[in-house]
Amino acid sequence: METQTTQPMTEPVHTRAPYWQDVPDEKWMDWRWQMSHRLNTVAELEKVINLTDSEREALSAKGLFRVDITPYFASLIDPNDPHCPVRKQIIPTAREMVPFQSMMEDSLAEDKHSPVPGLVHRYPDRVLMLVTTQCASYCRYCTRSRIVGDPTQTFSRKEFDAQIEYIERTPQIRDVLLSGGDPMVLAPKLLEMILSRLRAIPHIEIIRIGSRVPVFLPMRVNQQFCDMVQKYHPLWINIHVNHPKEITPELAAAMDRLTRAGVPVGNQSVLLAGVNDSVHIQRKLVHDLVKIRVRPYYLYQCDLVEGAGHLRTTVSKGIEIMEGLRGHTSGYAVPTYVVDAPGGGGKIPVAPNYVLAQAPGKVVLRNFEGFITTYTEPIDYDPTEIQHQEALIAHRPEPGQEGIVKLLEGEQMFIEPAGFAETRARGGAEHRLRSGEIAKKWQPLGVGAIEQEQMALEDGEEQSVNSGQ
Ligand SMILES: *Cc1c(COP(=O)(O)O)cnc(C)c1O
Ligand code: SF4
Repeated sequence: METQTTQPMTEPVHTRAPYWQDVPDEKWMDWRWQMSHRLNTVAELEKVINLTDSEREALSAKGLFRVDITPYFASLIDPNDPHCPVRKQIIPTAREMVPFQSMMEDSLAEDKHSPVPGLVHRYPDRVLMLVTTQCASYCRYCTRSRIVGDPTQTFSRKEFDAQIEYIERTPQIRDVLLSGGDPMVLAPKLLEMILSRLRAIPHIEIIRIGSRVPVFLPMRVNQQFCDMVQKYHPLWINIHVNHPKEITPELAAAMDRLTRAGVPVGNQSVLLAGVNDSVHIQRKLVHDLVKIRVRPYYLYQCDLVEGAGHLRTTVSKGIEIMEGLRGHTSGYAVPTYVVDAPGGGGKIPVAPNYVLAQAPGKVVLRNFEGFITTYTEPIDYDPTEIQHQEALIAHRPEPGQEGIVKLLEGEQMFIEPAGFAETRARGGAEHRLRSGEIAKKWQPLGVGAIEQEQMALEDGEEQSVNSGQ
């Protein structure tokens, strides 16, 4: 095999179904042509693939999540295989209409956690900015199907302004993640307007785009797009590939252009039953991704969203897949498997257990092969030695979200569920052992002191980091 040169990749052979054989190349490779020739009816789809009865039934049903498939992506479907992993992602079947326990419209409580429409501020230092509800094609398991695909739900100019104004007046935000819908289907001028307005905000350090357009419509990642985004660095992009079949010469060429423009590219996959719920398929997927310089970032457990019931797997399947990746392949190729918490708690990493036992001075660990080892810990480790250096760094405030770190740092002793103390008061009134005056008997000595010192310190100097929220 020849070694890779530093020359940009040449335009690849075009992936297309026989139905579009006569379309001139310049049209086929024009993203606008692809968008305006998407398939969405039984009649159109039947020209390209042999539909099953279940697919035909779902495509004719009212009220199902929108269907739209770019000709390029439709060309990846095996027309005669109802189990084709590409097909299962975008063509509905009657199984989509089956309700399941715990399904929700907005399972991640995104709308509840949005200070303004379309801006989800869940984590201390970063926000998710929904800029459109439109996509190049529609995934059957979409976590945002409550708004995605619906042109009447899309965001207005006034709402963009409100999103950006919120980011401007919230200095704790250092990272803005553009999503939707798919930001890359926005009119190029509008997308650039959003990027330039975000870049003008001094506290915004990085901008990210989450997009499936490179997968549905690699022709959109043209040189013009790459030239535009590199004006707004540091800018990162995450794409969304679920199966090795989606990694085509067109996608490889698009990723070549994008990485040459200095954009670090990651991938987010969703674990889907009958599509990629296999150690061997996932290994091939992550290997093929790193070959096109895309770093596997997350593997998501499928959300509890309406319509996605039949595509869900157990969590144990995800853990099994992680067992089959870590150690078996390059660390660069191993994503983090996460369950996005139903109810809106954010992404929770789930992994096999590698720590088998602990005692003072010892940790017993196992590796991917089942080899068991002991790490001997230092007995004279001094965790306070770093404090002087630590004091030279401005600490980023995380109001109300310090979590377990606050317990570990000795700033707080407990985290209580809402109503904890009230429940235990059992409705009794204040009495001689439980009066406000003696509340100090529940005050742990020394806990919270660091916080008070810190606050006094910050009041004096770090106003800029601390102000705002
Ligand atoms: C996923 C997500 C982010 C980004 O999370 P990272 O772990 O930093 O990639 C931010 N906000 C919301 C609401 C998200 O769902
Ligand atoms: S591309 Fe993303 S937002 Fe659009 S339908 Fe697929 S999962 Fe949903």
